[in-house]
Amino acid sequence: AKRMRLDKLLANMGYGTRSEIRRVVKQGIVTVDGVIIKDFGLILDPDAADVRFDGEKVVFREVIYVMLNKPQGVVSATEDKRDRTVIDLLDPDDRVLEPFPVGRLDKDTEGLLLLTNDGKLAHELLSPRKHVPKIYEAHVLGEVGVEDIRAFAAGVELDDGYKTMPAQLIIDGHETAQEGPLSRITLTIHEGKFHQVKRMFEAVGKKVVYLRRIAMGPLQLDPHLKLGDYRALTESELESLL
Ligand code: URA
Repeated sequence: AKRMRLDKLLANMGYGTRSEIRRVVKQGIVTVDGVIIKDFGLILDPDAADVRFDGEKVVFREVIYVMLNKPQGVVSATEDKRDRTVIDLLDPDDRVLEPFPVGRLDKDTEGLLLLTNDGKLAHELLSPRKHVPKIYEAHVLGEVGVEDIRAFAAGVELDDGYKTMPAQLIIDGHETAQEGPLSRITLTIHEGKFHQVKRMFEAVGKKVVYLRRIAMGPLQLDPHLKLGDYRALTESELESLL
């Protein structure tokens, strides 16, 4: 692994946020090659240095956090017998770090997908109790109207009897497509049931014909990312998630 600052290395390994780590490093909790190090900005080679946190040896594993603008036709899995996966879109150098998608988008859904090998972060973002908001843009056949806004705000019953949590529906516009009237909408949901957005519209008798995710918690899809492209999260994006 490449040389890196001590505080960054420890943050990457899940020992806390950078500011928490700086505080405890200054208190003398970390040793490098047997010497107490209070300089959290020390640059070191994680493969060569013996770093101990409160006496416990720190095992370094390279972490990766990327946002992908998922195109249609690829599945949000690490392996698939038939289809290309989102992992196939990554460079070999990134693939060896074994990232996996945090949550799923349908094969025909586009947009923001976070990939990481940080199981702890993935677990927290997916925890049903956290209610991490997810924002979707969709094209829906039919005239989405105020009655749908009210229904989604109150919660709708899906085909399996599940009642959805309050969701915020915005109507962005109406147009006429070949199939008839078409509505462009933005929907924010705070849970992630299987095919949730499509099934919520089915519950009000309408059909989603295009779906893309534009945000997940504090993460927003980078508008410069082309479909199929990805980039590492910035320092501030990462801080916002941790
Ligand atoms: N809701 C869906 O129906 N599909 C997705 O891919 C994501 C949310």
